[in-house]
Amino acid sequence: MRSVHSPFVPPGPTRWGPDTVAAMEQCASVEREVDKVLQKFLTYGQHCEQSLEELLHYVGQLRADLASTAVQGTPLSATLSLVMSQCCRKIKDTVQKLALDHKDIHSSVSRVGKAIDRNFDSEICGVVSDAVWDSREKQQQTLQMAILEHLYQQGMLSVAEELCQESTLNVDLDFKQPFLELNRILEALHEQDLGPALEWAVSHRQRLLELNSSLEFKLHRLQFIRFLAGGPEKQLEALSYARHFQPFAHVHQREIQVMMGSLVYLQLGLEKSPYCHLLDNSHWAEICETFTRDACSLLGLSVESPLSVSFASGCVALPVLMNIKAVMEQRQCSGVWSHKDELPIEIELGMKCWYHSVFACPILRQQTSDSNPPIKLICGHVISRDALNKLINGGKLKCPYCPMEQNPADGKRIIF
Ligand SMILES: [Zn+2]
Repeated sequence: MRSVHSPFVPPGPTRWGPDTVAAMEQCASVEREVDKVLQKFLTYGQHCEQSLEELLHYVGQLRADLASTAVQGTPLSATLSLVMSQCCRKIKDTVQKLALDHKDIHSSVSRVGKAIDRNFDSEICGVVSDAVWDSREKQQQTLQMAILEHLYQQGMLSVAEELCQESTLNVDLDFKQPFLELNRILEALHEQDLGPALEWAVSHRQRLLELNSSLEFKLHRLQFIRFLAGGPEKQLEALSYARHFQPFAHVHQREIQVMMGSLVYLQLGLEKSPYCHLLDNSHWAEICETFTRDACSLLGLSVESPLSVSFASGCVALPVLMNIKAVMEQRQCSGVWSHKDELPIEIELGMKCWYHSVFACPILRQQTSDSNPPIKLICGHVISRDALNKLINGGKLKCPYCPMEQNPADGKRIIF
């Protein structure tokens, strides 16, 4: 199964902060221990193989000697019985030696464990007090749903189904349907089958246009290019397919002209013409990205699963939160962090984690939430509902900024 996730945001230049450098050094020191174990294991394997091989050969020879003695019917000679007892000792010694060497690997393995303990904080749970979470049952359910969504999104449908059964989660078809459809179409696109994607794009044409999506045009273009790749005998088919471009003529005029121009070179061979870029395979990767992005946005799904976004954010936020925890413990003010929806400090996650604007009430200096939304007063100033309620005096409200007097009921909730 292929992944629905498409990293179409090109990675920007990376700057490592001091925390990241320290974390990388920690990883490297654990890795060094792992490498030692692997090296030991490899050497042990080779040595073990060789010793056993030698032993087998030795025993085999002895067996042959014994067999020939038996055939001759002569009693066991003193030499042979000495060789036999030597053989038994040799077997015992080899096995003991191998067992000893094997034990030696154990100590290297336990050194890896110690390196992990030494380099990483094992008590991540302790970073956040239990008070900020929902009940354990609710937590587990939320986590299971997040994992499930991630699996569906990554196209790992059979694993998702298995998890559903094992966790006895009740997932209705409405939840899975968009993922199943997306995956089916993407699978086809990966096989260079445009049919299902075109069908989907045509049936969602209006909504795609509202999103300024050029998915349908790009799909038709790819189908046209396919005809071009077929050479001169496909010229008529290509020309007749070109009528599909008509609805997009005003937006994609330039690209349509390029495609029409390429027809001139069909006899000569497109691959040797100035239009050879049309045959580039990258168009297929591009169409998968366009489809994923536009279909996700139309179906109200995020391109990256909430689980992978949360995980990546957690990796960034954890070192900061661990520092905060240490500071709070030092100053004995652990009660500071008791809000469910808010971290004790702001943590910068980078532009790609900006999903929507947030509003902090200028009066209470708190981020607004569903239960305490931002309210626009008739003078245009915005404060939180809690602040508004606090400012009401004798049924009247005086704006703390302008200070226009007004009826508190005239304030309107706004959504950022
Ligand atoms: Zn005002």
